[in-house]
Amino acid sequence: MNCVGYDLAVVGAGICGLAHALAAARHGKRVVVIDRDAQNNGASVRNFGFITVTGQQEGECWRRAMRSRDIWAEIAPQAGIAVLQQGLLTVARRPTARAVLEEFCGTTMGRDCRMLEPAEVSARYDGLRTEAFAGALHSPHELRVESRDAIPRLAAFLAERHGVTFLRETVVHAAGPPRLDTSRGPMWANAVVVCPGDDFHTLHADRLATYGLTRCKLHMLRLRPERHDARLPAVMSDLGLVRYLGYAERPAAAALRRELEAEQGPHLDNGVHLIAVRSADGSLVVGDSHHYAATPDPFASRAVDDLILDEYGQVFAGPPPTVVERWIGTYASAPNRLMLVDRPSDAIRVVVITSGTGASTSFAIAEEVVADLFGGDRPR
Ligand SMILES: Cc1cc2nc3c(=O)[nH]c(=O)nc-3n(C[C@H](O)[C@H](O)[C@H](O)COP(=O)(O)OP(=O)(O)OC[C@H]3O[C@@H](n4cnc5c(N)ncnc54)[C@H](O)[C@@H]3O)c2cc1C
Repeated sequence: MNCVGYDLAVVGAGICGLAHALAAARHGKRVVVIDRDAQNNGASVRNFGFITVTGQQEGECWRRAMRSRDIWAEIAPQAGIAVLQQGLLTVARRPTARAVLEEFCGTTMGRDCRMLEPAEVSARYDGLRTEAFAGALHSPHELRVESRDAIPRLAAFLAERHGVTFLRETVVHAAGPPRLDTSRGPMWANAVVVCPGDDFHTLHADRLATYGLTRCKLHMLRLRPERHDARLPAVMSDLGLVRYLGYAERPAAAALRRELEAEQGPHLDNGVHLIAVRSADGSLVVGDSHHYAATPDPFASRAVDDLILDEYGQVFAGPPPTVVERWIGTYASAPNRLMLVDRPSDAIRVVVITSGTGASTSFAIAEEVVADLFGGDRPR
């Protein structure tokens, strides 16, 4: 094999591509990251920056989230990335939601989590409608970063500390190592990892077509509430318990789903649930919704935003907050799988995170993929 150029070319500079660049650089490999955009524009900068452990599907996904959380915690200070919040408070507005959280606590995933009575929640935190809660689960595991800041800092850290080369505004048209055909001409690398996000029509499209991929569109809001208790971790509520598989796969979730169908049908129909995380300036990033299509429309309906704000108002006390920013994001989705690693040849991997878990799991997935590509090499 021609060894001119790089050991590894990574296509895509989202969190998935950057995670592979980090894992390969730690193996002492010469890495180039290639992206079509001048700056990050995909799911990785549109998300909550919520590195979620509790609620991820039991087994591989939960384990990968734990490992990825540890890597975020390790590199954030080195890369100058601020960790803005730690932990998660999942509020149960209904006894049926509390039953799901209690079942969750009985699993190995719930080991370090703790159920809180409403009185304990109000003693710890201000600004919640605690009087309407049936309880809450506190998880210590989660981290929150501001993705629009964290992703460029991570890229700069990889360039400066690990010598990773970045080629921006460069489209990869064909990736069959050792040759890659790009919009700037040919390049050479011994191996390629393609992390295309929700572009599954450019590279290895024939293989990706076999996975039944589609796209999911999400609505996101930035709110400026009058007051927000800075002691609060990230906050979720009942609707998330039928969406996040770590909860939704508990037997008690069936009764909660029936109740939600009767009481919050429009929320379920639009895939709305609540995640509220805090930014450095005191504003909150709040979402989200889920609509699936091969090419989702780019329009953010007010009705969907109002459903998100409605759930926010059921959990947080105080006057309605000002909406200061609205945006949508899309990610790849596939039936019954959270991610895929396709293997067109020994030297190529195509990695697609097919769920809203890429910020939470990419670092661990990348370690596995890089170890598989480069064999027994130990990270430096
Ligand atoms: C609104 C929203 C909220 C979310 N919230 C969370 C959350 O809180 N926690 C969590 O864990 N996950 C969350 N997710 C999911 C997470 O953001 C994604 O799983 C993750 O960002 C996917 O990363 P990626 O690198 O695969 O894709 P992307 O970030 O989309 O990056 C793909 C990159 O590949 C480039 N590219 C593709 N093809 C080519 C080519 N041929 N040549 C050159 N460049 C190419 C694109 O330009 C793009 O920059 C959320 C997603 C959205 C949309």
